[in-house]
Amino acid sequence: MSSVTLKGIGKTYPGNVVAVRDFNMDIEDKEFVILVGPSGCGKSTTLRMIAGLEEITEGELYIDGRLVNEVAPKDRDIAMVFQNYALYPHMTVFENMAFGLKIRKTPRAEINERVLEAAKMLEIEGLLKRKPAALSGGQRQRVALGRAIVRKPKVFLLDEPLSNLDAKLRTSMRAVLAKLHMQLGTTFIYVTHDQTEAMTMGTRIVVMKDGDVQQIAPPQELFDKPCNLFVATFMGTPQMNIAEATVIDDGKLTYLEFGSGEKKTRVALPEWKGRKREVLEYAGKNVLFGIRPNDISADPDFIAQHPGRVVEADIEFVELLGAESNVFVKVSEVEFACVIDSKIRMSSGEKVKLAFDTEAIHIFDKETERTVTN
Ligand code: ADP
Repeated sequence: MSSVTLKGIGKTYPGNVVAVRDFNMDIEDKEFVILVGPSGCGKSTTLRMIAGLEEITEGELYIDGRLVNEVAPKDRDIAMVFQNYALYPHMTVFENMAFGLKIRKTPRAEINERVLEAAKMLEIEGLLKRKPAALSGGQRQRVALGRAIVRKPKVFLLDEPLSNLDAKLRTSMRAVLAKLHMQLGTTFIYVTHDQTEAMTMGTRIVVMKDGDVQQIAPPQELFDKPCNLFVATFMGTPQMNIAEATVIDDGKLTYLEFGSGEKKTRVALPEWKGRKREVLEYAGKNVLFGIRPNDISADPDFIAQHPGRVVEADIEFVELLGAESNVFVKVSEVEFACVIDSKIRMSSGEKVKLAFDTEAIHIFDKETERTVTN
């Protein structure tokens, strides 16, 4: 068992800098929780408070049911892996991994066993005699992970551990970490500013902004049902398109009307979404709507089946990526990015028909930026 509970946790740095506000969460045993958000949103501060490296200004922190606000980091049974690997340069890989156990006076045979076991898990058995200078960035990061693993902590805290690696290595290390989490069966709390890392590894994601938790949810739920405009645009690549529209109710169906001048465009919402009371309250008013690039279709069958969702688009620019293309269009002078199957030929300057998959449209209040549809 290794649960972590944050109750109304807050941090104010000297000079009245509020870094984290009223953070509440029950992290269960074996979860892989990711704190994600732009730089300066309070992710590291939260992690450092859990580690005991930063004093907690407000609230209560429990590890396995024990209040640990005043417990020293070394007595919290946690291990932290940082972005800069902080390996001892004069020690071999083996010695680096064994160091924490040695100072805890663990018997030599057990040290050997634990280091070898961790090295095997991380596939670095062949490197144990090397010094850090003779390792690649990815290998160093594995050693840093190994050093944490051998201590068999209750909770792993990882602060941007992959951000010093190149893009290709980051992708492969994501798989290493996900596998490691399964093998160890330990709670992981992981900080990153990279939403792809969050989406691919986390069992639950915490999205933060300016010290406030915006939403806590599993990756798919966060993607499908963002609670506000910030979460909607932060999660998912390419980014969700956002535009202003008027909600129109003709008594039978609900439409979103957008664009400028006489060339306005209307798309029909599906009944289950458009006839919701929460949406109808906005009839005649302006809202923001969001549609992901993948939810704009050029598929002739889809277009034929959904005449109410069809729009006339002017293609501005096409970016061929291989199987798919990023197609940038204007609909009634409003810009949208679409991801289109490259088999469907598209070229700049053309006029085409596209269909908005309005099942997947999100509507937000213009003032509060909170979702109206989810
Ligand atoms: P993140 O990890 O999301 O980038 P941080 O937790 O490092 O964000 O920082 C959150 C906020 O707290 C930022 O505004 C940052 O400038 C401030 N901050 C962080 N550390 C300190 C400190 N030691 N003293 C004062 N302000 C700090």
